[in-house]
Amino acid sequence: MASPASRIDSPSRRRLAVLAIGAVLAVVLTVVAVVLAMTTAASFTAGMTAHAPFSPTEADGMIPAEAPLTVSDDRHPAMTGLDGDLREALRSAQAAAAPEGVVFDVTSGWRSEEYQRWLLGDAIRTYGSEALAREYVASPEDSSHVTGRAVDIGSLDAQLWIIEHGREWGLCQTYANERWHFEKATDAGGECPEPKPDARG
Ligand SMILES: [Zn+2]
Repeated sequence: MASPASRIDSPSRRRLAVLAIGAVLAVVLTVVAVVLAMTTAASFTAGMTAHAPFSPTEADGMIPAEAPLTVSDDRHPAMTGLDGDLREALRSAQAAAAPEGVVFDVTSGWRSEEYQRWLLGDAIRTYGSEALAREYVASPEDSSHVTGRAVDIGSLDAQLWIIEHGREWGLCQTYANERWHFEKATDAGGECPEPKPDARG
């Protein structure tokens, strides 16, 4: 039979044990929180350091929004970096469209890998997730702009003209959700392949 003293002591020992466990847990959680905060801060800083210096320039194929190129441009890397067949197809099609007053305004052509990576990062920030961003911006590994096999055309009348007549020069809209994006995707006069749903391919 237990003595009165032990009946009193037992609950207080349990309280002490609970307090001790609580104190240990608090210390462990604090250490974990501090380590996590330091790791996050370190990787954030590393990320900023790795990406902050890059800003796309003309040498990366960047075309200022207010100054699109014509397809006859033979100086800008966005045009000189294009696949020769695509460039010639664009120039021939432009010659045919000109009498109708249609001007192909090139807003993007060849892009460097760094520029494409930067665009994807920018789109991820805009859309909030990589999955959404990838519907509009391909990775550097997948982008047909990086290989010089795609152009983006700015004005609606030029886009619609190429969608209607482009296949005579093998020019095709290759993504259903990008009315502005064209590639040389068939032979002159051939049938354009069915556009892919989006840039995820
Ligand atoms: Zn494009």
